Amino acid sequence: MFDLAIVRGFVYRSGDFFRENVYIKGGKIAAVTSEVLEAREVYSADGLWVLPGFIDPHVHFSLRVGKWTSVDDFFSGSVSAAFGGITTFIDFIDPVKSVAEMEEAFKRRLEEAKSSVVDYAFHATIASPTDAPGDIASKAKELGMASIKLFTTYSSSNRRTYDDYIEELLRLSSEMEFVVVVHAENDEIIKKMEGKNVPPKDHSRARPTIAELSEVLKLAAMAKYHKGQLYIVHISSGITAKEIWERYGDILGLHLITESCPHYFWLDESVYSREDGKLFLMTPPLRSLDEVETLRDYFDAIVTIGTDHCSFMRKEKMEGNFTHGIPQGIGGVEFSFSLMYTLFGPGVIDKFTKNVAKVYGLYPKKGVIEVGSDADLVVFDPDERWFVQSHHSRSDYDVYEGLELHGRVITTLSKGRFVVKNGEFVGEKGWGSFLEREAIRWL
Ligand SMILES: [Zn+2]
Repeated sequence: MFDLAIVRGFVYRSGDFFRENVYIKGGKIAAVTSEVLEAREVYSADGLWVLPGFIDPHVHFSLRVGKWTSVDDFFSGSVSAAFGGITTFIDFIDPVKSVAEMEEAFKRRLEEAKSSVVDYAFHATIASPTDAPGDIASKAKELGMASIKLFTTYSSSNRRTYDDYIEELLRLSSEMEFVVVVHAENDEIIKKMEGKNVPPKDHSRARPTIAELSEVLKLAAMAKYHKGQLYIVHISSGITAKEIWERYGDILGLHLITESCPHYFWLDESVYSREDGKLFLMTPPLRSLDEVETLRDYFDAIVTIGTDHCSFMRKEKMEGNFTHGIPQGIGGVEFSFSLMYTLFGPGVIDKFTKNVAKVYGLYPKKGVIEVGSDADLVVFDPDERWFVQSHHSRSDYDVYEGLELHGRVITTLSKGRFVVKNGEFVGEKGWGSFLEREAIRWL
């Protein structure tokens, strides 16, 4: 006898849809078949899609940055995520310099994350590291964080990691089995404006596309040379995606993984000139309409979609006059899949599921509907048209408000348990668990 059956849906497996029933036992997928088997509880997904739970590789809940803390904690953030079909997310520990600091930062984050309603993992974050790359990598892996995030910029706030260090990490990444996760902007180009009085309307000019492009190409060259494991977060511009496709297409998916976020596909820099333009401030900035179009054209050059969810209150965003006095980041964890599905259709599914699971050492536990995998499932209505009107984040605004989207998450299950059922939250605080990732090997 199975615990639960999700019946009559179109089940997404190996890139196709099959009219099958999914049977769950002990939180795992126990059978996927067109046969009708006995189960204690039956949920009808008649005519709807049954997808693997989505994985958001990039969120910032309770992020402490300067005098601010992002408003969604692990509870509200994970609830909002679950409404968007996200059953696993990867957050970050606070930036550390040393092995000793990493241990502390990890414990602190683990405590904060306990309230999550879905599963989660962490990236280790380093800033101006003082311990050797190999020691940092060993410790991160031991703590179950085989992905190490760093910044190539922010030297003005002492958070930059320099090329010699990054190069060494990339050299070690394949043999030691970890991923180098990089926020890539050229510090030399940016720093003349950083900390200066940049009004929101000049945000994109102060952190220009060329700063991203030049840094990404340099890192890609290092990753190719060392056959490393390089993951570039939040690619903001179409030109960067295009250049990667044309120059480094041969290592894409092998030694280089690219991530972008829904806002770079939906919004352009013209919003920064609006009276409420501050509400749209994030780093890297939104780009020109031309670049948004190019990014859409080169969607194939993007392997995963993360939200970089980092929400603040309207008042916090509107208070300062210049970009350095305004907390950077927007929400969006709840709408990411529908936003991308509206633009690209079912081709987005793998970028939210299998691709992310493989890149970050979660496959086949997550990201796929197969016997033995966790029963993390999304029931999705591909035909519903709806308007973004309300959300479950603690923030009091949403940059996507009023947009008409296609396709909607109806029900979300985490480890065989309903978290959102027919649009209602039925989850449990603390249901989520920490996912250890001790080694990641792409090839
Ligand atoms: Zn981020």
